[in-house]
Amino acid sequence: DNAQPKKPDWIRVKAPTGAGYRETHKIIREHKLVTVCEEAGCPNAGECWSQGHATMMIMGDVCTRGCTFCNVATGKPDALDLFEPGRVADAVQKLGLNHVVITSVDRDDIDDGGAEHFAQTIRAVRHRSPGTTIEILTPDFLHCAPSVLETVVAAKPDVFNHNLETVPALYPTVRPGARYFHSLRLLQRVKEIDPMMFTKSGIMVGLGEDRVQVHQVMDDMRAAGIDFLTIGQYLQPTPKHHAVDRFVHPDEFAAYEKVAYGKGFLMVSATPLTRSSYHAGDDFERLRAA
Ligand code: SF4
Ligand code: SF4
Repeated sequence: DNAQPKKPDWIRVKAPTGAGYRETHKIIREHKLVTVCEEAGCPNAGECWSQGHATMMIMGDVCTRGCTFCNVATGKPDALDLFEPGRVADAVQKLGLNHVVITSVDRDDIDDGGAEHFAQTIRAVRHRSPGTTIEILTPDFLHCAPSVLETVVAAKPDVFNHNLETVPALYPTVRPGARYFHSLRLLQRVKEIDPMMFTKSGIMVGLGEDRVQVHQVMDDMRAAGIDFLTIGQYLQPTPKHHAVDRFVHPDEFAAYEKVAYGKGFLMVSATPLTRSSYHAGDDFERLRAA
């Protein structure tokens, strides 16, 4: 039986309207950019785009992995577009962003996993918008030489984010192409290479995990030196995707946030509609001002 629990009223999606939303949409289209906001059908798009916040997805809209929670198409991606870093930089400047989140599909078809393309995009954005803080949300570079990570870190993003997505017990069904400890170690290595770089990770809940497992992931993350944590409700993009096990109550999210700060995370966002990139800029601003 494929019956899904009914969406509770705390999962409310605001309709996309207004001049700000249309302006963001126009800039994204004109620069032929892919956004995770659209690809993932993110429930926050109305709100974020109205404020000019969009998360750019580089290296195409076809992924070599097939995570069962993710709406991005799986297949053989196109060759990298060498002009993309410039277009992203141009769009970031036009959007006038204080903080930008740049993510990508997974490119197991390229030797360096797209590390150099990431680095070029960071450098292009920095060149055009020196005042904009840059957050990257990267793939796991699982099949690459360990040195590719240095390529990305050397471009000096302000925040290095890589999502663990779920608890290790659910990897085989949720994130079959990935390895929990590889992802954790990736983030730990970022800190080793550049101890001043902020690291960030996130998980979705409602996939079938329990609280004890979530607390264990937090401990693992802190042991790897991860600074920022996001926890949000998993929403099923289509009936073909991983089922929603349950809708986690806002009180449980509030409890996760409290526990996480107790474990030493510098910044935590844990609410039903939290996404990796939700209000990322505001949070980062707050932290820097503190
Ligand atoms: Fe886009 Fe992130 Fe906002 Fe969702 S939360 S609309 S993915 S910027
Ligand atoms: Fe989606 Fe990322 Fe998994 Fe690719 S690697 S299927 S983009 S979550």
